[in-house]
Amino acid sequence: MPAIGVFALQGDVREHLATLTALGADAFPVRRPEELARCDGLVLPGGESTTMAKLARTFDLLEPLRERVSGGMPTFGTCAGMILLADRILDGAAGQETIGGLDVTVRRNAFGRQVDSFEADLELTGLDEPVHAVFIRAPWVEEVGAGVEVLAEAEGHPVAVRQGHLLATSFHPEVADDGRIHRLFLDLVQG
Ligand code: GLN
Repeated sequence: MPAIGVFALQGDVREHLATLTALGADAFPVRRPEELARCDGLVLPGGESTTMAKLARTFDLLEPLRERVSGGMPTFGTCAGMILLADRILDGAAGQETIGGLDVTVRRNAFGRQVDSFEADLELTGLDEPVHAVFIRAPWVEEVGAGVEVLAEAEGHPVAVRQGHLLATSFHPEVADDGRIHRLFLDLVQG
């Protein structure tokens, strides 16, 4: 049973824990470096990426997170979690830090300029049936590096990407009562 931590200083932690537990993972919240050290894989939830990055720095988790992610720990970011994984941010707060590792540029609150929140059924590479995607003040991916595979798009912009051990979605699979994307992530962890 893989040990999957969910970054838990801020964000929709409970929904991820419930989905992962239902899939048979040993899922637990991560607030301290000792908890991070136990992880076979990590989920960065949705929430507020500026707050998450500040809290990670305050609680001495930011550098350990960077080390684990760059060291190859499978990591799955949803919405704010995608922003935390991104190497480059547009429309970030002044001085906003990320964990990084994912060779993409994301634009924060990108859809929000048109509409704050919306839902859409999307084709996603690796899944037979479309996913019902819930977007809440979501980022989109504006640019991807050579090693990044785009798994899904909405309104012409990538909203699900994979780069080796890293997976990220602009939307929130954890609120959709559909464990298939978490299952893809667990396959990455166990693969
Ligand atoms: N807009 C948020 C941010 O910039 C992300 C929103 C979300 O995670 N639902 O961090």
